[in-house]
Amino acid sequence: MIQLNEILSKNEFTKEEIIYLLSLEGPEKTALFEKSSAVKLATIGNKVYYRGLIELSNVCSKDCLYCGIRNSNENVHRYNITDEEVLEVSKFAWDNKYGSIALQSGELRSPAFTKRITNLLKKIKEMSNGELGVTISLGEQDEATYQEWFDAGAHRYLLRIEVSNPALYYKYHPGDHSYEERLECLRALKRIGYQTGTGVMVGLPFQTLDDLADDLLFMKDMDVHMVGMGPFVEHHDTPLYKYSNLLLPKEERFTLTLKMIAILRLMMPDINMVAATAMQAIDPLGREKAIKVGANILMPNITPGKYRDDYKLYENKPCTDDAAEDCKNCLEARVHIAGHEVGYGEWGDSKHFGK
Ligand code: SAM
Ligand code: SF4
Repeated sequence: MIQLNEILSKNEFTKEEIIYLLSLEGPEKTALFEKSSAVKLATIGNKVYYRGLIELSNVCSKDCLYCGIRNSNENVHRYNITDEEVLEVSKFAWDNKYGSIALQSGELRSPAFTKRITNLLKKIKEMSNGELGVTISLGEQDEATYQEWFDAGAHRYLLRIEVSNPALYYKYHPGDHSYEERLECLRALKRIGYQTGTGVMVGLPFQTLDDLADDLLFMKDMDVHMVGMGPFVEHHDTPLYKYSNLLLPKEERFTLTLKMIAILRLMMPDINMVAATAMQAIDPLGREKAIKVGANILMPNITPGKYRDDYKLYENKPCTDDAAEDCKNCLEARVHIAGHEVGYGEWGDSKHFGK
């Protein structure tokens, strides 16, 4: 415990110290979680902010080996939400005082897609008198596209690096994916002035504690404003499924993700961190647990119900049967159970932004 207390009193860790923290069990693991919880409450308080998640489309040009909606998966029924439906659910978010929405989709790169998103952003801003915050997560695009969407009203962008070790990155992203291009996208987003978010999956086959420690150092080095980390959850229709025998049990992937959130909260006390939906795919109280150890953002799913089953990135994705209203009531209760309150009507921007 002496060694642990000494490490926990710092906010900069060596790689070896991070690996040590990731390996904690029993009362020492509890001490880590108590510390990260205290640091969060002291730095950014107990508010949890909503980003109403709209899963625009599951059409994707990419083939990430872990993802259920990858281009080559022929068993996916592909959809595209209409603009009217996007505006309708954005209005639901606005009427219910969700401070922000988040538009997410498979990766598409075309002038028509760019234009469609630009027009949608303008309409969403117009509908809410500019007051609804907008996060987007639409993959890798060129800088001019990012700039156009920023000018149209998006102000936060989420682009997970997925794994910061380039060798592992290429293992999961063969073909024409480029690690360097993904990095360059993150740099471009920061240059333009987005609140920039990245993140990783935890518990992928072949990933080690060494890799995860490097992931946390990567996020600190990139000086991002927001982070979304979630456990890897397998999907039977993906090439990575054949390595399922190499995976940690789901509960261990879950606990490892909690430790990643807790350690990053100590390293970057004032960033925004998402309690990822994938946490709940493993543990029914997964997102509450993530909030307790350091997360402060929830993404209630407001995608129209008829599409939800088709945005299956992984198996056992929660809330695919719920209407947006059910999700709202259930989430608020969950936030209260975790001893927190919902920041209704507030953007809840990253306090790290602009520093
Ligand atoms: N297409 C965009 C992109 O990849 O950046 C945004 C949407 S993508 C579906 C959102 C995130 O889902 C990815 O960044 C990835 O981390 C996560 N994801 C995909 N497959 C997953 C899986 N099997 N388990 C957990 N998370 C997964
Ligand atoms: Fe497409 Fe994103 Fe899935 Fe990769 S993770 S296949 S880019 S939706």
